[in-house]
Amino acid sequence: MTPDIDARRLLDRIEAFARIGGNGDGGITREGFGAADLEARARLSKEAQIGGLDSTVDAAGNVLIRRPEGGRGAEGRRVLLFGSHLDTVANGGRLDGAYGVLAGLEVMQTIVESGAELTYEPVLVAFSNEEGALFPQPFWGSKVLAGALETLPEDPRDRSGRSLRHPLALAGGDLAALSTAVWPAESVAAYLELHVEQGPVLERGGRTIGVVDSITGRTQLTVEVRGSAGHAGTTPMELRRDPMTVAARIVLAVEDLAGEQRLCRVATVGWVEVQPNSPNTIADSVRLTIDLRDSVPSNLENAEQALRTSLASLGKQAEMHIDIRVDARAAPVATDPVLRAAITASADELGLPHQTLPSGAGHDAQIVARIAPIGMIFVPSIGGVSHVPEEDTAATDLVAGARVLLRTVLRL
Ligand SMILES: [Zn+2]
Repeated sequence: MTPDIDARRLLDRIEAFARIGGNGDGGITREGFGAADLEARARLSKEAQIGGLDSTVDAAGNVLIRRPEGGRGAEGRRVLLFGSHLDTVANGGRLDGAYGVLAGLEVMQTIVESGAELTYEPVLVAFSNEEGALFPQPFWGSKVLAGALETLPEDPRDRSGRSLRHPLALAGGDLAALSTAVWPAESVAAYLELHVEQGPVLERGGRTIGVVDSITGRTQLTVEVRGSAGHAGTTPMELRRDPMTVAARIVLAVEDLAGEQRLCRVATVGWVEVQPNSPNTIADSVRLTIDLRDSVPSNLENAEQALRTSLASLGKQAEMHIDIRVDARAAPVATDPVLRAAITASADELGLPHQTLPSGAGHDAQIVARIAPIGMIFVPSIGGVSHVPEEDTAATDLVAGARVLLRTVLRL
């Protein structure tokens, strides 16, 4: 008989963790390496130990949960890694990240309790600082584990200049020993991540399980338009060099990239900073961020190129300088076909309707893809919302997702 998870235990745990960093309105602030995050991590380790599992913390602050003594005959065995993250954005939801970790704990406990035989050694990971809400180094834990150390600053700091060194030590990590937390490529046979969709596709399609085929690529730019400040009452229109009017056209041009022109899947201006930002002063400069996403690398390149062309012509037309800085370019990452097939077969076995879809959000899985084949399982998000207090998923779907994760782990 195939072992099954304890649905009640899983749902109770999700409820219990939602209280750590809870803001009272359903929202959760559990920023990576903040006080609530430390509490959640300690709680996870304790629950794992009560459940008869070993819990350790690596130098990057990742919580790693294994069978006692790594399971019998674990020497040199390759690992089947699964998990997600416990940290949240400010006033985020209770499921983004935590669901994948807590369902992973339920799967680990079920494996131990049932004595199931596995080809690979199962290891659960709660990656540290995935969101980068407090310390702006998102995917911190997965980047270290996957050996992407060259992408991380030597002395990471939060926005107020406080070093990560001490908070990381409090979490059980060690900034000076990060290289000890890097896993060799051959050691991980596969990485699985169960996550809420954070979008509306599964709910709209009436499907319980999403089989992720790719994690979106992303290009992030910061653009600055420089004009000349002036008095809003005395400066004649024809003598103005107003960067706000150019910024407004840029926002529309960005929308156009994904809208009218269909060069990339989505394009967003989400942040604007105006100097001096005064109601009766013509702005001196405007800075804004541009976020382009697509699953096809050439689409991202073409969209960026088209954007650069329109920025050049907008700047020329307005006789203003437009500065473009590339903040990050993340290539799209495909999931592994064998893992996709295993997830699909597991959902079929359980009679759960499923569909293949891309992930529009970033996940630790895309980082782990550097060293291992990855697979991702999604469950529906009610109303398609995430990173807000209203983020939620039906209990039956939460249970279904954990069951698919268990079956997939048993299958590999
Ligand atoms: Zn997440």
